[in-house]
Amino acid sequence: MADFSKHKFATKAIHAGADPDPSTGAIMTPIFQTSTYVQESPGTNKGYGYARGKNPTREALQKNIAALENGKHCVCFSSGMGATDAVMKLLSPGDEVITGDDLYGGTYRLFTKIFEKYGIKFHFVNLTDANNIKQYVNSKTKLIWAETPTNPTMQIIDIEACSKISKENNLILVVDNTFASPYLQNPLALGADIVMHSVTKYLGGHSDVVMGALITNDDKLHEQIYFILNSCGANPGPMDSFLVMRGIKTLHLRMERHCYNGRKIAEFLKSHPKIEKVYWPGFPEHPNHQIAKKQMRDFGGMISIVLKGANLEQTFKIASSFKVFSLAESLGGVESLVNHPATMTHASIPKEEREKSGVVENLLRLSVGVEDVDDLIDDLKQALA
Ligand SMILES: *Cc1c(COP(=O)(O)O)cnc(C)c1O
Repeated sequence: MADFSKHKFATKAIHAGADPDPSTGAIMTPIFQTSTYVQESPGTNKGYGYARGKNPTREALQKNIAALENGKHCVCFSSGMGATDAVMKLLSPGDEVITGDDLYGGTYRLFTKIFEKYGIKFHFVNLTDANNIKQYVNSKTKLIWAETPTNPTMQIIDIEACSKISKENNLILVVDNTFASPYLQNPLALGADIVMHSVTKYLGGHSDVVMGALITNDDKLHEQIYFILNSCGANPGPMDSFLVMRGIKTLHLRMERHCYNGRKIAEFLKSHPKIEKVYWPGFPEHPNHQIAKKQMRDFGGMISIVLKGANLEQTFKIASSFKVFSLAESLGGVESLVNHPATMTHASIPKEEREKSGVVENLLRLSVGVEDVDDLIDDLKQALA
């Protein structure tokens, strides 16, 4: 296996984990579409027993993603939620988790509707000031779950500051790095213990696969995570692993364009008379802009906007009148998407909770794609008109 750990991002994206197939020389990792592996005698095999546990296509992808996060280990899951579910299974009844008050709706649902039932307690805290964590730490606290930038209000959480508190108290710090992608932000280098990705989004990048991943440098955590994957079975298939590897080969190119288009659109929207507020961490007046600058390479293509004085009906009308942007859940693909969090991605959060964190009914979230930015701005102009 060639070692690409010392190379730069773009080289790793293309080559890490992707050695030519030893039996044929095929430059692309084959799709090992198999459920089992033939054994020479019982227990004697080539390192592969059954495909829930191990599959060579998936392993190649895992090596690639680990390299992108400068991590030692990566385990892929059948979805981002599958990966988050596996993290929560590191815990036992009675344990407590400190997490943010602006979270992906599915994460909030998993925590409150599934894991609270199993006796795990969650504290939803404003993490934009990491010191807020301290008052919730007690002898039962085991884990901090931080998402940054947050979905959809683009809060920025200081990963290094969280890590300091986490280490002082012997906790596990997990960072959901989905919005930034490994191109913009590498939480392990900032002190996180586990990085989680919804691979579905920027890593896959083409809106054709649902997948998740957990990356860590800690051998023991990795062993537990892999044990959970193999025991609980949220493993992704080889075809999906292949598609994601293919997607990642252009991650750096796509991210550059997402960031370029994102900046142009954020600036356009900021001066638009029908827009009350633009959430984008690249603005100097964003409350945690300095932290974003410190921990991210650039500011990404995710933008949320509040429409000035629009009620639900008017908001729906605008959301439905785009011609280049598509109205859909999800993000991070090459095509631009518009989403209405209050009724779509974040509908599983009670209205009161949602509105406390700014997810109001006249808020729209944009996932700016890699199309020509002039066409995207024209589309926004006509939809807002
Ligand atoms: C989409 C998303 C998830 C969930 O991932 P799936 O692949 O859809 O299961 C988790 N966190 C964030 C920030 C997301 O955007």
